[in-house]
Amino acid sequence: MLGLIRAQGGASRMPNVAKMQPGASCGQPDTAALLLEWWDRERRDLPWRTPRGCAPDPYRVWLSEIMLQQTTVKAVIPFYERFLARWPTVAVLAAAPLDDVLAAWAGLGYYSRARNLHKCAKLIADVHGGRFPTASGALVKLPGIGPYTAAAIAAIAFGEAATPVDGNIERVVARLFAVTAPLPGSKPTLRSLAGGLTPPARAGDFAQALMDLGASVCTPKRPSCLVCPLQTTCAALAEGLATQLPLKPAKADRPLRVGLAFVALREDGTVLLRRRPEAGLLGGMLEVPSTEWSETLPPLDQALRAAPVHGQWWAVPGTVTHTFTHFRLELMIYRAVVPNETALTFWADPQRCRWVPRRALNSAALPSVMRKVVAHGLREH
Ligand code: SF4
Repeated sequence: MLGLIRAQGGASRMPNVAKMQPGASCGQPDTAALLLEWWDRERRDLPWRTPRGCAPDPYRVWLSEIMLQQTTVKAVIPFYERFLARWPTVAVLAAAPLDDVLAAWAGLGYYSRARNLHKCAKLIADVHGGRFPTASGALVKLPGIGPYTAAAIAAIAFGEAATPVDGNIERVVARLFAVTAPLPGSKPTLRSLAGGLTPPARAGDFAQALMDLGASVCTPKRPSCLVCPLQTTCAALAEGLATQLPLKPAKADRPLRVGLAFVALREDGTVLLRRRPEAGLLGGMLEVPSTEWSETLPPLDQALRAAPVHGQWWAVPGTVTHTFTHFRLELMIYRAVVPNETALTFWADPQRCRWVPRRALNSAALPSVMRKVVAHGLREH
C-alpha cells in the first residue's frame, strides 16, 4: 500500500489509509469540515438541488442522477426541466407511454437509461407504493441504478453515509492522497479512501461538495489549487503532482465503422423510420434503415441491396459522422423519393418500420446520430 499512496508529509504518516483524513492529524480541520464549509458558501445552484433547509425530493434526486450518468450538467439541465414539467412525480412518469419517454430523452444519449428510467418508475409506483427505498443496498437492485447512483441517491435524498465515487471523485481523491498507482487498478483504493473521508452527518452535502469541487476547482487539466479549500491537506499539491494525477493508461484510438443509411421519402411527405431492437446500442430508439455498421463497406451494388424499398437511390453528397463510446461511425447517405403505395423489402424488416410525417420527426425518438442522418438526407442539394 505504501507504494501506491504517498500522503502529505511522507509515507510514515499513513497508518490506516481508509480512515485517514488528510491534515486532521496535525491539528488542522479535517477534509470533510473544510469541504463542507466551502460548499456552504460556494455550492452550485442546480435545478434539482433543494433550497437550504428543505427536505430533498427523492424523485428529483433520482431523475437527475440517472440523467447525469456519463453526461454533463450543462447538457442535462434542459432535459431535466422538461421532464420535471411534464412528469412531476414518479407516479405520473410511471403512467406515461414508454414511447413518449424515449422521445423526450432523444438527444441525451445512452438510451438504455430512458428505458430503465421508465421501468424503474413503474416498479416504484406498482411495487413500492410510490416511495423509493431509502438504503443504497435496496436502491442498487432497481433498474438503471448502479453502485454510484445508489450511493448518490441514498446520501443526498436519505442522508445515508454512502459515498458515490465516479471519475470526478476518483480524481479528487487520487490528488488528495497522492495516489500514484494508475487507474483502473487503483479504483478500490480510491473508493476506500473516499469512504474514509465521508462524515457520518451531512453525507449528502459532502457527496455534492466533492462533486462540485471536482467540477469547478479540482478540474482534470488545470486544477485551481490556489483557491481550493483543501490546499492545506492535499498531498498532490504538496508534492507538485496535482496535474499529473490520476495516472491513466494511454487511450486506444476508437475504431472506425462505416455503413450506408437509406432516407426514403414518400410522395405524401412521410419518411421511413424503423424501431431498433430493445437490446444493444440505441436499443428501442428509432432509426433510418441502414446496412450493418462494419469495418469496411461491401461493394456498392451489394450494399444497395439492403435498401428498405425499391427505388431510384442517389448518394447525398458528404457523409455523416458520429462518435460513440467505443467506435466512430461514418455513414454515407442514400436518398429516394418513392410512391405512396411502395412496398417494403424483406431487408427493411417491415414489422419494425413506420412512415412518419416530416413535421413529426422533431418529436420522434430519434437518437442524435439519426437526427444528423435525417437532417443530412432531407437537406435540399
Ligand atoms: Fe485538487 Fe489542487 Fe485542491 Fe488538491 S489542492 S484537491 S489538486 S484543486
